Amino acid sequence: MKILIVGGGGREHALAWRLSKSPKVTSIVCAPGNPGMANVARCIPIKAEDIEGQVRLAKDERPHLVIVGPEVPLAMGLSDQLRMADIPVFGPSKAAAQLESSKGFSKDLMKACGVPTAAYGRFTEADKAKAFLDNFSAPYVLKADGLAAGKGVVIAETREEAEKSIDDMLSGQFGESSAELVIEEFMEGEEASFFVLTDGHSAVPLAGAQDHKRVGEGDTGVNTGGMGAYSPAPCLDSAMQERVMEEIVNPTIKGMRDMGIPYTGVLFVGLMISPEGNPRVVEYNCRFGDPECQVIMARLKGEILPLMLACATGYNLSDCKRPERFEDAAVCVVMATEGYPASYEKGSVIRGLEEAEASNEGVVVFHAGTAERNGDIIANGGRVLGVTAMADTVTHAIENAYKAVDQIDWPEGFYRRDIGWRAKGRG
Ligand code: ATP
Repeated sequence: MKILIVGGGGREHALAWRLSKSPKVTSIVCAPGNPGMANVARCIPIKAEDIEGQVRLAKDERPHLVIVGPEVPLAMGLSDQLRMADIPVFGPSKAAAQLESSKGFSKDLMKACGVPTAAYGRFTEADKAKAFLDNFSAPYVLKADGLAAGKGVVIAETREEAEKSIDDMLSGQFGESSAELVIEEFMEGEEASFFVLTDGHSAVPLAGAQDHKRVGEGDTGVNTGGMGAYSPAPCLDSAMQERVMEEIVNPTIKGMRDMGIPYTGVLFVGLMISPEGNPRVVEYNCRFGDPECQVIMARLKGEILPLMLACATGYNLSDCKRPERFEDAAVCVVMATEGYPASYEKGSVIRGLEEAEASNEGVVVFHAGTAERNGDIIANGGRVLGVTAMADTVTHAIENAYKAVDQIDWPEGFYRRDIGWRAKGRG
C-alpha cells in the first residue's frame, strides 16, 4: 500500500518510521517531510497548510491512505477535500476538528454529553467576561477560542492580570482566534494525554503519555510545543484508562455522532487527574501530540495501519485486531535550538546522529526542524530533534535516551536533562 503523510515534524517522522516497518506498506510519500523522513519516504516540498497543493499531490499520487499530521490543515478542511476526491484520509472533517479548533465548541459538547471538565463561560464582550470572573478565585484560566499554536491560554495569578488579558485577547491579540474567549475554573491535579483511534462509532484505546511543556528543568520557564515525553503515564493505569473510555471518550464520540458530525481519526484527550483520582478534560486535540506521538509509535509493536484504514474508510473498527503489544516504555528528549521558543538562529550543523542511533540499542532520532546543506544536517527550526529510546522500564529508557543525546554534537542546541522525572520518581 502507498501512504501519503501530510506534515514534516517529529510526529510525522514517527508515523512514517512506524508505518515503514509494516509489510503491508510498499511506499510512503511525505509532504513536506524532512531529512529524517527521507530515509523511509519520498519527500515532496509542499507545505502542510497548502490545501490546494496537498489535494493536487494526493490526486496525482493516488495513495491508499492519507494521514494528516498537524491540526491546521484539518481545521482548514483538508480531509473534506480529500474525501470529495474519493481518497481515504485518516483525520477528522473540518466540522469535527472543531473539537480542537474551537474551545467554545468543545466545552459545549462536553457539557451536552456530561463529560467531566472545568466550569466555563464563553464571551465576546469584555464587561461580561470580567463580571464572570466573580465566579472563581485566582488563578484564572482564560483561553482564546481558536487555534493559537499553544499560546492562546493564560493562567492569570491575579484579577488585575486576568482583566488585562481579557482586554488584550478581545482586542485582537491572537487575531480572529481570540475574537471569542472561554473563561474556566482552574483545575488542580496531574496532567496526562490519552490517545484513542475512532471510526466515529467505536474507539480503540492506544496509550497514555505525559509531556513536558515548559522550557526549563523542574517545569520552569515559558511554555513550548513540548520539550519531551514518555509513555506509559503512571497515572493512566488500565483502571484509569477504562474510566476515561467510559466517562469521556465514548460519550464524546456518541455526542459528535448524534450532532451529525461524526469524529474519525485519532482523538487526543488532554486530562487533569484530580488529587482524588478523578479524570477531567482539559482539552481535546484532533491529531497526535508532538512529542507524544514519538513515544507512542516507538512503543507500538503491532500493526497500526489496518486500524487507521478502518478509521479512514468507515469499516468497522471494532472488528479490527487491537494493537498487538506495546514495548514497555519509551522516552523522547527534544533537542531545540538555543533561544527557542523565542528567537533563534537557523543553520548550525548537527553531527553524530548516525552514531547516536547505531551505538544505542532501541534509540531512534526523529527529525523535526532539520534541513540538509551540502550533505550536512542543519538546524532549521525551534524544536529540531526528538531523541527517543525504548527499554524495559522508563528509568532505562531515560538513561538510554540521554546516552544518545550526549553523543550528538550540536553546540547550538539545548535540551532538558529531567525528562521523565515524574515517572522515574515512581520507580
Ligand atoms: P496545547 O498546546 O496543549 O494544545 P492549548 O493552547 O490548546 O494548548 P490547553 O491545553 O487548553 O490549551 O491549555 C494549555 C495548558 O494550560 C494545559 O496544558 C494546562 O496546563 C493549562 N490549563 C488549561 N486549562 C486549565 C484549567 N482549567 N485548569 C488548570 N490548568 C489548565
